[in-house]
Amino acid sequence: MRFAADGYDFIPYVRCHNYIGGGWGDGNAGAMPIENPRHGASMGDVVVSDASDVERAVAAASSGARAWRATPVKERAQVLYRLKQVMERDLDELSWLLSHENGKTFGQAKAEINKGIECLELAAGIPNTVQGGALEVSRGVTCQVRYEPLGIVACIVPFNFPTMVPMWTIPLALIGGNALIVKPSEKVPYGMMRLADHLREAGLPNGVFNTVNGTKAAVEALVDHPSIPAVSFVGSTRVAEIVYRRGTALGKRMLCLGGAKNHLVMVPDADVEMTATNVVASSMGCAGQRCMAASVLVAVGECDHLVNAIVAKAKAVELGTGMGAIIDGQAACRIHGYIDDAESNGASVLVDGRGATVGDKGHWIGPTIIDNVTTDMKTYRDEVFGPVLCIVRVATLDEALAIENTHEYGNAACIYTTNGGTAEYASLRFEAGMIGVNIGVPVPREPFSFGGWNRSKFGHGDITGIDGYRFFTRPRKITTKWALQKDADWMS
Ligand code: NAD
Repeated sequence: MRFAADGYDFIPYVRCHNYIGGGWGDGNAGAMPIENPRHGASMGDVVVSDASDVERAVAAASSGARAWRATPVKERAQVLYRLKQVMERDLDELSWLLSHENGKTFGQAKAEINKGIECLELAAGIPNTVQGGALEVSRGVTCQVRYEPLGIVACIVPFNFPTMVPMWTIPLALIGGNALIVKPSEKVPYGMMRLADHLREAGLPNGVFNTVNGTKAAVEALVDHPSIPAVSFVGSTRVAEIVYRRGTALGKRMLCLGGAKNHLVMVPDADVEMTATNVVASSMGCAGQRCMAASVLVAVGECDHLVNAIVAKAKAVELGTGMGAIIDGQAACRIHGYIDDAESNGASVLVDGRGATVGDKGHWIGPTIIDNVTTDMKTYRDEVFGPVLCIVRVATLDEALAIENTHEYGNAACIYTTNGGTAEYASLRFEAGMIGVNIGVPVPREPFSFGGWNRSKFGHGDITGIDGYRFFTRPRKITTKWALQKDADWMS
């Protein structure tokens, strides 16, 4: 059902049901409200599923999987091309819905949907690029590799990118010939509800794409189900590790992406305008609720001219239009607590977002910059997941790198400099999987793959790009000898 908003004014929406076998239905564990964070009011509700709902989804997916794996890969790709068309047709509607359920601005929501569509383009092109290959490996002997589906796979996703993060995996799982079950975040389930409609319109057979909504019980039932051999997870490190351990203990293929504490290192020769604009966009974009957000700025040496420019830009961000809301009251309270804690331990709050409001409703924290943060403060150590940038002051680049290297996370890191040698030196020494040079959100765009290091990821390989396709397929190697010549060769 179309979402009617074309602005930020509150409007209610429908119940979000499970989508199983091409039909909509309730979950067996009740329902819970979905809050519009900008208004702090419930815009609808979402059903909650238990193991019996997962069982029904698996039954539907197994019949979907049989037909889908027998569908030629080029035909599978056609469904994805049509999906791109219908998503582009409804781009504004999808963006407003995303903005209402998640709290991000319309512009940021639209950028998210477009990024989701870009992931789709990579998957649709896979039949023309990475379908395996064949080679004459000895006289008259050919080796061939085919990438085949795993069967039914599950994807568990977080609240901060209700459409883009699921789109990292769904198109790759589908082009690989799998049926899948997605467990959306219970806070933002509408994006996947609309995707189910769009996939149906694009011609995906029933049972190939399914959703089970809910929380921990639904996730556990998916991970434990013997008919699901592979699970991807994106969310906090605490849950990523639990889910990873649970699945691998059962011998499953697991890829679980977790949280982050991304360090930006700034040296005095950095370009002032570009650095200030970029650092503020990286730390305050999506209200800091993204795993690629800058949360620590390590200032090397005399950087006050850069810090002053960053502070000025952060103060100019307009809450409500330039930056969105915090997902819920609990998260706003947690972020507030981190700012209080740093301040009470001696750090100075240069830009203070506490108490910021837009109208008299919703969950808001304005841009916040805290200077003279030290590495023993919990605001430095923990993932704050809000619009809070901590500045740590050091004397040398090696000190900055040592700080970044010893943090437990390793999602992204960035160096701001105008010197190529400095950029190269830092890029090759960061302990993070995704590195930026003068780019604070260094998301590798398709076809490059997305994934962090250390405690930002559990499992092998990355989640997007060709790695993602490999995760959802298994290679069958066939070695053939048809020319029955009798020459000696080592292939008996
Ligand atoms: P979360 O870990 O609370 O929830 C993620 C998913 O796990 C949700 O679907 C949720 O319902 C489910 N879940 C929650 N508790 C569970 C439990 N005990 N057992 C099983 N499942 C459970 O994460 P969130 O708050 O929705 O998202 C924010 C987090 O996600 C941040 O830490 C952020 O850094 C991370 N994130 C990481 C990436 C990445 O690529 N590394 C991308 C986006 C978000």
